Amino acid sequence: MGDGLKLVASGTGRALFYQPRGGCNLEGIGSNCTLLVCGAQIDGRLKGDAILIDLGAHPARWTPEGMTQSFPDIRDLLSPESPAPLRAIFLTHAHADHDEAVVRYCEAGFRLPPIYGERETLEHLRAKLRGCMVATSSWPELREIAPGQRVETIPGFAGVEAVAMGHTRPALGFLVKAAGQGIFLSADFKLDQTTLTRPTDMARLHAMKAGGEVDLLCLDSTRAGQDGHTVPEAQIRANRLMLADKFPNHRLNLIISGHNDETIAGAAWLASQTGRFLVHHGTAIETSLRITNAGPQPLHTLVNDDELQVFSARASIVKRLSPSHVLNVLAGINGEKLASFARVCRGESEHLRFGAEDVVLLCGSLRPWNKGKLEKLADLLRAQGVEHIYFNNEEFPLHATGHEQGDGLVTLARHVGPKQAIVGLHGSEAQREALCRRFTDLADLPEVLRVDNGQTLRLDGAGVTTTSIQGPALIQATIRHHGSARAAIPQAA
Ligand SMILES: [Zn+2]
Repeated sequence: MGDGLKLVASGTGRALFYQPRGGCNLEGIGSNCTLLVCGAQIDGRLKGDAILIDLGAHPARWTPEGMTQSFPDIRDLLSPESPAPLRAIFLTHAHADHDEAVVRYCEAGFRLPPIYGERETLEHLRAKLRGCMVATSSWPELREIAPGQRVETIPGFAGVEAVAMGHTRPALGFLVKAAGQGIFLSADFKLDQTTLTRPTDMARLHAMKAGGEVDLLCLDSTRAGQDGHTVPEAQIRANRLMLADKFPNHRLNLIISGHNDETIAGAAWLASQTGRFLVHHGTAIETSLRITNAGPQPLHTLVNDDELQVFSARASIVKRLSPSHVLNVLAGINGEKLASFARVCRGESEHLRFGAEDVVLLCGSLRPWNKGKLEKLADLLRAQGVEHIYFNNEEFPLHATGHEQGDGLVTLARHVGPKQAIVGLHGSEAQREALCRRFTDLADLPEVLRVDNGQTLRLDGAGVTTTSIQGPALIQATIRHHGSARAAIPQAA
């Protein structure tokens, strides 16, 4: 934790407590989950009313015991004897590192409190619960909230307000008020205002500062170490269009993440600009499209083209289209073995064969864990006669991250104007350290505190103090595969 702060063994009176249960990991990204308790510290424990912001998981991995997954341990909060019963869970958005442990707890038979989220977030959660064959009788109550809406019915809490944040799919930040204190949790975000999907609500952020509403700011620290801002999506669209214009007679193929609505919209925009049909491959993209199209801003309105033609790769018409009329979008930008892209590369797809008529754009960041896989897949493509393969790169980017970079984080903090302190969320120790360095010597902003999973801050009228309370470590459970994933979590901690 940060220097210069008073360590208090206990505190009296009502206060707002902040304790990351996951996401502030020593290594890697995953299991985002923040516990907020309005109450008091009694005999070394938190007593009061609790909510969670997010309940994500780590990626599942093969181990000698089988498929295993790490996620936050919240069993103490769900116990009937809990001194701080869990009143609600608020989900920022539908990425697995923010929502997947909801599914793990439901399938293991735990009763979760009501879950609040945006329409799209809850639709994705329903799809995940169905996909893991969780009986609807075991689902928590799902309550929809929209940006700008404030929930005032949670016992102990004055309000939880949803704030629109730009990311790669609809995301909400939350402004939580209790015990006379305000905490703003940014969620995953970027400030780019050129996205096709809904951007960050800068006006609301600025109003927080004007109103002196925020004591503690919790910031996405994933890309705190990178200078500048994220590349604007408008620049990415222009770069892809420049390449498309070079190859008017080729078939265009964008390899993307199926969980990135902004990239799907960007592909649709490119199809619209080049007069092509958008053809999608794989269930992840299909699910994302279905959920987008059922909402207030379906794909054709995002790209402002009522004539936009979208087909599944399974549609019989697709086989009759000439290459120059097709823009394929395929999931699998991390080289995932079972995703559409890898399957097409291996010649296993019944819908698509790559050849000399194809141009392939890899629209995702190159990272240590996907670079080797993508290079091997590119070799397979070359062996099939594909000459034009474009990787994302700094000089000519084909993809923009959904996480704001260092200078943008400072911009957000200056808009919000936290009065007491800043903490890093969503990051490894190194990424959260980078956040601390980024804010060092900025006289107009408060100190960045180091808080790891389980450590607890107390906010009250006297300021922010560290406490001796330590929450549980991440839980690791085996996921059995019998047609569905099913986590085995012991009921008692
Ligand atoms: Zn995300």
